[in-house]
Amino acid sequence: MTSWRTTLIHPGVAAPEGFHSLVSPTYRGSTTLFRSAADVQDTWRQEELAYSYGLYGTPTTLELAARIGELERARHTLLTPGGQAAIALIYLAFARSGDHVLVPDSIYGPNRALADGLLASLGIDVTYYDPLIGQDVEALLRPNTRLIWCESPGSVTMEVQDVPAIAAVARRHGIVVALDNTYAAGILFDAFAHGVDVSMQALTKYVGGHSDLLLGSVSVREESHYTALGKIHQLLGMAVSPDDGSLALRGLQTLGVRLDQLERGTLAVARWLGEQRHIQTVLHPALPSCPGHENWARDFTGSASVFSVVFASHLSKDSLIGLIDRLRLFKIGYSWGGVTSLAVPYFDAVRQVRSYGGRLVRFNIGLEDPSDLIADLEQAFAALGGEMLRK
Ligand SMILES: *Cc1c(COP(=O)(O)O)cnc(C)c1O
Repeated sequence: MTSWRTTLIHPGVAAPEGFHSLVSPTYRGSTTLFRSAADVQDTWRQEELAYSYGLYGTPTTLELAARIGELERARHTLLTPGGQAAIALIYLAFARSGDHVLVPDSIYGPNRALADGLLASLGIDVTYYDPLIGQDVEALLRPNTRLIWCESPGSVTMEVQDVPAIAAVARRHGIVVALDNTYAAGILFDAFAHGVDVSMQALTKYVGGHSDLLLGSVSVREESHYTALGKIHQLLGMAVSPDDGSLALRGLQTLGVRLDQLERGTLAVARWLGEQRHIQTVLHPALPSCPGHENWARDFTGSASVFSVVFASHLSKDSLIGLIDRLRLFKIGYSWGGVTSLAVPYFDAVRQVRSYGGRLVRFNIGLEDPSDLIADLEQAFAALGGEMLRK
């Protein structure tokens, strides 16, 4: 008789077979089983070869990767534990000690921190360039330039880049172009059709869509790029939770309706803000006041939920803090792409090319009714008027 202790590990019963659901199961697993000792091998190429270890993916995360790749019309997609991990993976796969990389001045803050903090110590040189430089990026190339980053629109300051022009220069010189395509959810801007080699997203934002997970993706078309990324992905042990993968698969199903509604609501709020005398500039890619708007109009199929405003110079930092604190529906916090509207001050945003006078605030519009959001802003702005009268 087998001991009950062994039965706990090797039961003689199982659930009935034949269950078919619309939902992809959440496959967990570190150990994945080989049929025979002869089959044992350690490979990260789960797609082509065989499952070998949970670190490289389970059917849940590999389904998500394949579906992101399908939407971006890539050949291969690797998942990472977050968007920042995807950024780190790209740097470590494509830049070595002694190399030079070009990064737009409008890059996502933690990407810049990584370039300044880690790449410098690895002996990789970084040059920041004006995001609106276009084909003139050629003048900044060095013999050892290996990688050009693009992010369009840029984080917080929202410059829309001429990615095709930059990619054309890079192609002539055999340099890899990586794009942070998070704003476009990998959909509103077709990275590969515009000459990009490596497209990454923080799935945390629109694919997750509910502020409850962290995931990233890196998509490529070239086999050699896939191999370069896959090797480093394995070495760094970039494990992805199947639970988060499952939430992201759910998020994909509603991405279409969310993006449509977010675009409409965001434009309504951004246009209203543009009419207020307390606002100097609205930095929304679909509005002509946004630097690089013409690139957006030419290359994008829509706009998303995040934009910034530069408040007018008659407002002090304290009155802006008061304004944000008075908002009731808008919450104060980082990240975006979820269902809740957010406002975050970027008073200390430093850009080499343009100055924002310490009055930059970024908004994320959620799925609330835009008229309620405008009413919320109205009451916060009204108090601002009162404050100024009292002075
Ligand atoms: C949020 C964000 C990231 C990083 O994503 P995490 O999942 O939060 O690490 C990268 N790029 C951009 C443009 C982002 O907004």
